[in-house]
Amino acid sequence: MNIIFATGNKHKLQEAQQILGPSFHLKTPAECGITEDIPETSDTLRGNAIQKAMYIWDKLHINCFADDTGLEIDALDGAPGVYSARYAGENKSFQDNIDKVLKELDGVPAPRTARFRCVVALVIDGDITTFDGIVEGEITEVPKGDGGFGYDPIFKPAGYAQCFSELTPQEKNSISHRGMAMKLLSDYLNTI
Ligand code: IMP
Repeated sequence: MNIIFATGNKHKLQEAQQILGPSFHLKTPAECGITEDIPETSDTLRGNAIQKAMYIWDKLHINCFADDTGLEIDALDGAPGVYSARYAGENKSFQDNIDKVLKELDGVPAPRTARFRCVVALVIDGDITTFDGIVEGEITEVPKGDGGFGYDPIFKPAGYAQCFSELTPQEKNSISHRGMAMKLLSDYLNTI
């Protein structure tokens, strides 16, 4: 099945392709001629995921899905949450966002409990279905490992001694927020 994953993030694309397997041929918006930034202006993950997927559907009328992810840190009252991508400001790096989290958490004792929450929105023939994934964990004192992306170097999933960035891609996918939501997406796509 040909389907567009409405993302410009190559790490997410690799994760999704690995989870969905070779029977799904994932295309990017850029491969389909959409080169502009896809708007995400909602104040909820679900709203953003739907907005991104519907943007592609409205332009191309090709089946597609999008995800939106937030890191919720309890000691920061759930921040950065839906604003995780631009926590340190517009056009800042993954490292800038990590630095800001660690600065905000300076002096907060372990465990600094947190979770990744992910919503995937699927649009098939204009109809929307959403899938949720969540993984509990904690924020480490210092970044570790060099795999993954985003906040992976400071997120240690519950029950693990390593951060996401220290796990293999397969290990991360098997427990991660996006892995869980994509598995539900994959199960659903295999039934239609
Ligand atoms: P978005 O879903 O691309 O808007 O992601 C929001 C923010 O969370 C971005 O800064 C991403 O880098 C980060 N993020 C999304 N998924 C992950 C993940 O699996 N691990 C670590 N950070 C992530």
